[in-house]
Amino acid sequence: MQHTRASLNRTIPKVGDGLYNNKREEILTLVEDTTSGHHDTLIAACDEERYIELAGEEGRGHRNCSENLGEGLRIIGIEPPQFTPSPLNLFMNIPVSEDGVSLSFEKPTSKEGEYVVLKAKVDCVVAFSACPQDILAINCGKPVDAHFEIL
Ligand SMILES: [Zn+2]
Repeated sequence: MQHTRASLNRTIPKVGDGLYNNKREEILTLVEDTTSGHHDTLIAACDEERYIELAGEEGRGHRNCSENLGEGLRIIGIEPPQFTPSPLNLFMNIPVSEDGVSLSFEKPTSKEGEYVVLKAKVDCVVAFSACPQDILAINCGKPVDAHFEIL
């Protein structure tokens, strides 16, 4: 996402914008977005360490997006990278405060049934994780299933 932000001069892509890899190649294009456009490119995928950070030892073993990525890639025969790349956090509302530097984790502004359409520009693997974050407000404390389809 750091390469996408630099290419777009924005923190959140809008319809018509590309999503870029670390070689500055456009991999996907955001072609439709029925939400208010509040997504996130700043926050790392959740992982066990994040849940321990938030909940102490109770966070150990919490389901997380980083493990979801690894499990999904292994199912299709791809060894996951040693670190989780910076994700596009669809529907995740992380506003930058008026001071220009502070972030907060807020409830999503999207509503059930809203969606985005991403068009692949090249052959690629796209991994989706319905974030199981249930401590912060980003999923209203109640993660739900996310659905996707390949058109
Ligand atoms: Zn997550």
